[in-house]
Amino acid sequence: MKPYTHLLEPLNLGFTQLRNRVVMGSMHTGLEDRFYHYPKLAAYFAERAKGGVGLIITGGISPNRQGWLLPMGGTMNRLTDVINHKLVTHAVHQHGSKILLQILHAGRYGFQPFVVSASPIKSPISKFKPRQLTEKEIFSTIKDYAHSAHLAQMAGYDGVEIMGSEGYLINQFLSSHVNQRTDSWGGGIENRMRLAVEITKAVREAVGAKFIISFRLSMIDLVQNGNTMDEVILIAQALEKAGVTLLNSGIGWHEARIPTIVTSVPRAAFVEYTAMVKMHVKIPVIAANRINMPETAEQILAYGQADLIQMARPFLADPEWVNKVQTQRTDEINTCIACNQACLDHTFSGKRVTCLVNPRACYETELVYVKTKKPRRIAVIGGGVAGLSAATVAAERGHHVTLFEAQPDIGGQFNLARVVPGKEEFNETIRYFKTLLAKYKVDVRLNTTATKDQLAQDRYDDVIVATGVVPRDLKLEGSQLPHVLSYAEVLRGAEVGERVAVIGAGGIGFDVSEFLLHYPTTPQPQPLADWQREWGVDATPDYTTEGGLAWPEMEPPLRQIYLLQRKTTPVGSGLGKTTGWVHRASLKKHQVRMMRGVEYERITPEGLWINVDGQDQLLRVDTIVVCAGQESVRDLMPADSGVKGNGPQYHLIGGAKLAAELDAKRAIRDGAELAARL
Ligand code: NAP
Ligand code: SF4
Repeated sequence: MKPYTHLLEPLNLGFTQLRNRVVMGSMHTGLEDRFYHYPKLAAYFAERAKGGVGLIITGGISPNRQGWLLPMGGTMNRLTDVINHKLVTHAVHQHGSKILLQILHAGRYGFQPFVVSASPIKSPISKFKPRQLTEKEIFSTIKDYAHSAHLAQMAGYDGVEIMGSEGYLINQFLSSHVNQRTDSWGGGIENRMRLAVEITKAVREAVGAKFIISFRLSMIDLVQNGNTMDEVILIAQALEKAGVTLLNSGIGWHEARIPTIVTSVPRAAFVEYTAMVKMHVKIPVIAANRINMPETAEQILAYGQADLIQMARPFLADPEWVNKVQTQRTDEINTCIACNQACLDHTFSGKRVTCLVNPRACYETELVYVKTKKPRRIAVIGGGVAGLSAATVAAERGHHVTLFEAQPDIGGQFNLARVVPGKEEFNETIRYFKTLLAKYKVDVRLNTTATKDQLAQDRYDDVIVATGVVPRDLKLEGSQLPHVLSYAEVLRGAEVGERVAVIGAGGIGFDVSEFLLHYPTTPQPQPLADWQREWGVDATPDYTTEGGLAWPEMEPPLRQIYLLQRKTTPVGSGLGKTTGWVHRASLKKHQVRMMRGVEYERITPEGLWINVDGQDQLLRVDTIVVCAGQESVRDLMPADSGVKGNGPQYHLIGGAKLAAELDAKRAIRDGAELAARL
């Protein structure tokens, strides 16, 4: 019997059939809002449809101007919109997938001045205070949803998804967290769910019986005064009655202070809530959040916890996810590591979305890996992610590639990151690259330091220098003392005392602090029950607490840690937009003392002398860990690099090229872009 039988089983919806149980969830890419981006958007979706996914849901498109997430956001309310969307539906249907248009009214989450909501309560994530919708406006909003759905049908969509979760407008009506109305749209759950139900009925009436309506319902709000599971079930049943075809899972409002999708959230952490709702309805239910690999997805379906599995970011990371499952090539899956660095962080910075591990995502028409007609002999020096990306893309294109790595294993900085609690997903990227190196027959030479002489002797056409970085040394009196360690030494297992000062509060200073809070006792990955306790999530599937919130319970920290920086800005303010708050909250919970505006004076056997606000003080610590950034390693780079006709052509990528603000996103893109050009 073939594995993943549940995942690959078709789903008959009566009037139409999905070819498997895999749904590509809604994800704003930044290509939805301008008509001239639609050819790129169509190519992006087409590649995922070709990759075998059963059902695609577009990024959120507003039914009217008040509902925009961003000024001039994508809207479906005119006939001209239909023309753009036809490009998308046609591209997807050519490859056998079905596609739904997601209708999303942002309500008070809009970053624009026309925002409206159930009640005039400002959200913590937008600077614009909403106006309360009048009853007349509520009716016209319902009409706008129906009109949008009708236009979606004209554009060739197989259905629509009504976005009712994550704290957007409909969710704002559903829960007393925002809905404080005293008319017939507020108060008890029957009134609060009226908007959701009326929209569903109006949409069903507009589109007829043979059109999919998915409703994304918040299974657990994770905010104060949020709904209880009883209320969620009541809503689900009312929606089923109103004509919904599929019930999709939303988890937590965007303003919730409990992480729901970052990499430290255990896989499938919220599936029990979906399973609880599924027990009370007959329509198919979709599970979502932190599902990225087929074993997890298959298990959820096999246990009957859901009927379909939704993944959004995993399809940025790998458009061929389903085909690889179908052809039993799961070790070739480029796994989403839930870092948010190139997807959600881009969305919230107004940039086009892409993916850290797959720089082609949303650049399908621009970054193309064409088979070469003139294979070259290429040496890649360095098996960090920049070198791996260059080596695998070049080899995939048909070049003859040799990869030199001085260490016993590939992975570079990822080998350090993967030991940090909550970053276990980084192992998947290393596994993926290893599989590709073997598949494309890259000659991998571990424990081998390439020399200029050898490279010249071996007559390569190109040498790609991806030798990465070394930790920056601290130029401070006492920094040679034995209790001063680099972050690399610590992450490789050096002995560390109970009181620690971490110098440098960038991403690595945070990672090292997290590591030291648990090391060496952390079971990896963190068990779900521990994670729920730590963050205050009600673990009972039929939770009666409002919003599913519980009191967080913390174990006392293993170490006293000081995390220091010279800047006077808040510590951690430079971390990722959508993940930084999780790291800051986690260290705070574990009583890490974060200090800014610190001047380092000297290190002595007693500890670290610093000056803060003109006051000298001694931090009595056993160990000082230096996380003060990196410096490039580029010894192999000749002065006449890149000059044709003078031996091999040299290329510099990743951290070796630029250590400042080095990150894996840039390193992987650097490698791929270079290899695509050779
Ligand atoms: P980083 O972000 O540049 O941080 C290093 C910190 O060290 C600086 O913020 C700086 O802060 C301090 N510093 C620099 N020179 C110093 C010196 N001579 N003496 C004392 N302190 C000094 O670098 P990183 O933390 O090594 O991270 C490297 C890259 O990996 C970054 O691009 C980061 O985005 C990425 N990364 C991200 C994450 C994450 O988001 N979770 C995790 C790991 C890595 P002050 O000058 O204020 O002291
Ligand atoms: Fe996943 Fe990170 Fe890629 Fe986003 S950028 S899709 S979180 S791997």
